[in-house]
Amino acid sequence: MKIMKFGGTSVGKPERMHDVARLVTRGDEPVIVVLSALSGTTNTLVSIGDALLAGDKSKAAEIIVKLELHYKQFIQDLLKEEAMRAKATAVISEHFEFLNIILKISFNEALNKDILAQGELMSTKMFCIYLEEQGVDHVFLPALEFMSIDSHDEPQVPVIREKIMQLLAQHSGKKMFVTQGYICRNARGEVDNLKRGGSDYSASLIAAAVKASVCEIWTDIDGMHNNDPRVVNKTVAIDRLSFDEAAELAYFGAKILHPASIWPAQMYQIPVKLLNTMQPEAKGTLIEVESGAQGVKAVAAKDGIIVVRIKSSRMLLAYGFLRKIFEVFEKYRTPIDMITTSEVAVSLTIDNGTHLQEIIRELEPFGEVEVLTDQTIIAIVGDQMAASKIILADLFKALTDIPVGMVSFGATPHNVSILIESKHKVQALQLLNSGIFGL
Ligand code: ASP
Ligand code: MG
Repeated sequence: MKIMKFGGTSVGKPERMHDVARLVTRGDEPVIVVLSALSGTTNTLVSIGDALLAGDKSKAAEIIVKLELHYKQFIQDLLKEEAMRAKATAVISEHFEFLNIILKISFNEALNKDILAQGELMSTKMFCIYLEEQGVDHVFLPALEFMSIDSHDEPQVPVIREKIMQLLAQHSGKKMFVTQGYICRNARGEVDNLKRGGSDYSASLIAAAVKASVCEIWTDIDGMHNNDPRVVNKTVAIDRLSFDEAAELAYFGAKILHPASIWPAQMYQIPVKLLNTMQPEAKGTLIEVESGAQGVKAVAAKDGIIVVRIKSSRMLLAYGFLRKIFEVFEKYRTPIDMITTSEVAVSLTIDNGTHLQEIIRELEPFGEVEVLTDQTIIAIVGDQMAASKIILADLFKALTDIPVGMVSFGATPHNVSILIESKHKVQALQLLNSGIFGL
């Protein structure tokens, strides 16, 4: 069994959905197809919820009308036979009826989750009707019957496994299953989701649950690249990465893969392939336990970083100081990314400034607190970086002209992170591209 997951842009146009159908029917191996919502739909559903939260029902109604028109047109271009078009129109109308009913009742967070689920429900149903029109035998596998999160909003692979295996057993001999990414049920049995971009996570959880041979993530780029293609001119796709390397890159800004989707695949040792629907023959990136080659594979940048620096001579020879500082961040549920220490100061970075003022207030008794905003972390990721003595030399030589604020190295053999002001990001990524990758 293999998993093939397609993102919003891969199903966002009728002709792209036709391509997806061609791709999933190519091989002999049984496949579970995991689909996102059509591109733009989840954002639109978010804006419906926002309008309702603000009490603006007429705005919500307006957005719903526009979205429905989009789907009606989509159906016309997706399907050829009148009977199939009528069937799809009836199915989609039910979802819009549901959205219109929500307009009439009092809005709450659980309903909002129901609204957000409509995108994946509609995309998978339309895709199945297209498969039907094409005469492709398939099974519609509702994610809400097997994908779940526990009371801490965490998915548990063994729980998902039990449910999905039961469902699959009801369809033995079938070779194609179609299901939704992103959506799930929570511990209260309500419709919920795996957070924005969570379809990759669904795919990896399903892959782990069914012990798939591979988890293919299909997007519109040919794999993970060595640098950010939006910032530098020339980038190349990386052939192979280890799970650890991929996790660093996904977290530090490589938008192609949701960071949470690494752990299920890693834990259950399911290889992940990043492939391109526009260029299905391209090799893409293979992510597995072994990393392939040593040395630097890629750099990735994460913007919106805030540095908090606490300086205190009381830190000198003191113990328990770091614990007290960390406790403040824990109290405000603010994760710390990078940390460097000197004998009298600690610098750390966060990417969520929601509770910054409270955090500063509680840190002030420990010493002088300084805050820097508009910072960027650049992660330089690879395998056995310490073993290759030239890496650090090359890195800092490449960045001679860039003021570096913090450096973190040695926590894992896979990563060197540096902090710079965001205004230097473009130049820094370009310099690293030529200095390290020779591009
Ligand atoms: N449709 C959801 C989103 O846009 C999930 C996904 O596409 O991964 O966030
Ligand atoms: Mg995505």
